[in-house]
Amino acid sequence: MPIAAKIKKVLETGTYYSRIAAKSTELKQKYGIDKVFDLSVSNPVLEPPAEFSNQLQNFVESPINGKHRYMENAGYTANRIDVANQLKKETGINFSLNEVIMTCGAAGALNIIFKAIFNPGEELLAFAPVYPEYLSYVENYFGVCQVLPADSSFIPDFKALETAITPRTKAVIINSPNNPTGTLYSEKTLKLLADIVAGKGAEFNTTIYIISDETYSRLCYDGVQCPRMFNFYPNTIALTSYSADLCIPGERGGYTAVHPACQGGKEVFGAMIHANRTLGFINMPAIVQNVIHYLPDTSMYLASYQRKRDFLYNRLTQMGYSMIKPQGGLFMFPRTPIKDDQAFAEELQKHLVLAIPGSEFNTPGYLRVSFAVENSTLEGSLSGFQKAIRQYNK
Ligand code: PLP
Repeated sequence: MPIAAKIKKVLETGTYYSRIAAKSTELKQKYGIDKVFDLSVSNPVLEPPAEFSNQLQNFVESPINGKHRYMENAGYTANRIDVANQLKKETGINFSLNEVIMTCGAAGALNIIFKAIFNPGEELLAFAPVYPEYLSYVENYFGVCQVLPADSSFIPDFKALETAITPRTKAVIINSPNNPTGTLYSEKTLKLLADIVAGKGAEFNTTIYIISDETYSRLCYDGVQCPRMFNFYPNTIALTSYSADLCIPGERGGYTAVHPACQGGKEVFGAMIHANRTLGFINMPAIVQNVIHYLPDTSMYLASYQRKRDFLYNRLTQMGYSMIKPQGGLFMFPRTPIKDDQAFAEELQKHLVLAIPGSEFNTPGYLRVSFAVENSTLEGSLSGFQKAIRQYNK
């Protein structure tokens, strides 16, 4: 067999993402682009803000020698200092560039973290609904991901966490604001999580890391600030991305940061830099680091995303869809009016609306709906949502 058996098995079924992308293309070819309303996307359809394009133009028009060469594997010093200063401002913790690595997006950060810390068979604990890539990324390093339940407001089940932690637990991963639910963990939730993990680490005499996926931390709505795990647990490794807030997922920009007081933090940091090189990323692309260095530190699309969230949330709840209002991120997670979320997603497709069944996130009975799309797509989807729910709420 020319390819690995494991990959062959995955390719035979195909991922849901690849199937839905193919469906979207098929429907658009059949009915026309403007007749299909694809809310399955995690690829923001908006263009990057003008500030990004202006800085990119500056970079091209004022060439500086050496700006396209290899750099330190951790990224440019200037960018790492920017990030450390930003983290210092946001958390009050004294970060330095020696805790920050620029990465190829959040995906690159997750992979270097996992490669740095996992021995074969060690466990990562995550909470449902779970971002599915955590499972495949941890498997890259022969770790095992166990998905624990959350309650109906998508807050982790603390009892389940307490029971699930064993001496083989290497890390617990959280994602707030969350993909797919839009839930933002409060300070109280973060503290409870931290206390349980710290208590279990002390009981088993192990270091358990909390990996905080903060991909959407610059997209919190209604003026709320994103509480940070760094403020509650020193053995925290956080990661984030420039993909969502700057609408540049194709440019592969992100970073990871280790708490300055993390146990074994210096070793973890060294191992992650090594992983950045040996996984073949080498460094986050130089052009995007240069451009980002000159951008203001606010999310330029916050207000626009908040308007999109409000529009879709208000209209869908008026139709009878039940959901928790997303506090951050790019997605909402309504309950499906029938138990079978796959069947409901198919019903929506008949009305040319695409969204992802919750079972793809280990949580059946829900639907992930992206609002990172054009307003015309949001508006156009409403009729399909209305027809689909009427079908079951007669
Ligand atoms: N983590 C979460 C929760 C995400 O939703 C995503 C992207 O959708 C990523 C990580 C990966 O982001 P990036 O494009 O920065 O690699």
